[in-house]
Amino acid sequence: MAKSVGVTLSEHVFTGFVVDHALVGDLRRFPEGEDDYGALVEMPTEELVRTICEQVAAVSRGSTKLDAVGIAVPGLVKNGVVEEAPNLPQLKGARLCDLMINGLKAQGIEAPVTILNDADGVAAGLAAKHGKLDSIIRVWTLGLGIGFGRYPFAPGVWEGGHTVVTLDDKETYCGCGGRGHLEGVMGHRAMRLRFLDMEPEEVFEAAKKGEHRCVEFKKLYHKALAAATASSVHMAGPGKFFLTGPYVGFVDLPMLKDYTQQMVKMSPLQSYSIEIVHESPETRVIGSAVSAERAAGC
Ligand SMILES: [Zn+2]
Repeated sequence: MAKSVGVTLSEHVFTGFVVDHALVGDLRRFPEGEDDYGALVEMPTEELVRTICEQVAAVSRGSTKLDAVGIAVPGLVKNGVVEEAPNLPQLKGARLCDLMINGLKAQGIEAPVTILNDADGVAAGLAAKHGKLDSIIRVWTLGLGIGFGRYPFAPGVWEGGHTVVTLDDKETYCGCGGRGHLEGVMGHRAMRLRFLDMEPEEVFEAAKKGEHRCVEFKKLYHKALAAATASSVHMAGPGKFFLTGPYVGFVDLPMLKDYTQQMVKMSPLQSYSIEIVHESPETRVIGSAVSAERAAGC
């Protein structure tokens, strides 16, 4: 029975002790207050690493040896190095895996450490929750940006949120600056730039009432996600796609399935499925731990 710790980094650090793919004890949150939003952004890397190590020590109940520690980071991660982290810019270039191993030693804990992309952590957590650890699952996380996660881990870049879904020259709302990207259509920040006078919630409300500009946008939103999903099916094969994240409520599943069906016509590729699921910090923490266990060969 593997004993591991899962950590997710976003506006908060969530940490949990995971035994046999289930959380044991409570999830710890740092900072504890809801309104300390932004506190992590201002922390220098060394302080952030020390904080994470203290959280790991606090949940692991005096263990001096763990089978795996997994840390999910919002950004591009390769071989334990954070190559890009737009929401925690101090981490860019950090050799986070080495820093964590040394930081844990200072807390008296020996453990193999895996650094993973947060959307991959969500994918692993959903795979564990839905009993699908033996199959390939992909997940779109709809938040400020659009995350793409997959389980099991496979080497690659997998920046699925930046899949090109339109050739329109005017589609320049993606946070990365690239033209025609999925996140430039569906990202919350991109929607606010496109509709300067309306919140995304109001856009989807107005689409229900038939307001032309909003109806057209709702179609674009669903075609974009269908296009990115279809591209993934054409490249990596059919399988399970989960949709999740704080803005998943904007998705009209029948509309999305209809567009995807129009884009995937080869019969061997039609055995994909798309499902909306709700995930939580618990799912992400379990996913980080499960991914790290796999990487450590548990
Ligand atoms: Zn982009």
